[in-house]
Amino acid sequence: MPVIEILPDLFFIQRGFLNGNHFVWRGREPVLVDSAYVGGYEETGRLIAGLGVDLSRVRLIVNTHTHCDHIGGNHRIQERSGCQAALHRIGKHFIDTRDDWSTWWGYYGQEAEFFEAHVGLEDGDRIDVGPYEFEVLYTPGHASDGIVLYNRRHRLLFSGDALWEHDASALNPRVDGSAAHFAQLDSLDRMAELDIDRVFPGHGPPFSEVRKAIEKSKDKIRNFMYDPDRLGRSRIKKVVSYTLLMTGAIDENALFQRLMAWPCFPEFVDIEFQGRYRELFDDSLDSLAALGRVERRDGRVVSLLEP
Ligand SMILES: [Zn+2]
Repeated sequence: MPVIEILPDLFFIQRGFLNGNHFVWRGREPVLVDSAYVGGYEETGRLIAGLGVDLSRVRLIVNTHTHCDHIGGNHRIQERSGCQAALHRIGKHFIDTRDDWSTWWGYYGQEAEFFEAHVGLEDGDRIDVGPYEFEVLYTPGHASDGIVLYNRRHRLLFSGDALWEHDASALNPRVDGSAAHFAQLDSLDRMAELDIDRVFPGHGPPFSEVRKAIEKSKDKIRNFMYDPDRLGRSRIKKVVSYTLLMTGAIDENALFQRLMAWPCFPEFVDIEFQGRYRELFDDSLDSLAALGRVERRDGRVVSLLEP
């Protein structure tokens, strides 16, 4: 896994699709930003320890949002260290009230563990990651509780899932409301006002062509907004692809049953494709296979993406 020392003792750990990227400040009282997916916890702990950080000494975890691939290690790291967790006040509310719908976990059938949320952040707050001060920007759209962290002095942005280099992250109007697209566009506009040298995203490698990435995301969202058929197919493909990462290699029919058992897949099909569940499932597998993201082997299907 690529590990980059962004600034002295501040590390970026690049993971995959199932596990979000995360950050470590290596100091006397270590600070983490995000903690990947619970199923990847062993690897997360190993990567952090590999930097010479004792997990039992962690003082604080800051979360960019409460999706399962960003908070997965929180509970277990808190058990070991008793550390605090800081996240946007809306995310803190989701966690405080054990709301696994707004966090998407119960909607997508994702594995995740609740944890203790101590600090509710607001737009404009400042938070210290060791000696480095970050500004908190509230960037809803992809997640109702999404924040990005901006270090003005070094012109760095930790963008979570609010900004990726080559793709727009998934939006979920069924959970976050029909205005999610507009909120995401506004959040991208806010990021466009910042002076940024390098973005460290929630998935994928760091990048410097910030404006290009923002415009690409905005184009993609706008195109989707006016093409419900394409949006529906893309959404379904993302659900199938992510579920497959969670299950590992699985019988095709079992994957279909798994998808039908949670609200996300049937609802996404019903919105645009009126109950044509199996057809849309088959179509999305064909299309993912053509893109080289999944492979079929004797009735079983396996993800080719980095978990
Ligand atoms: Zn997310």
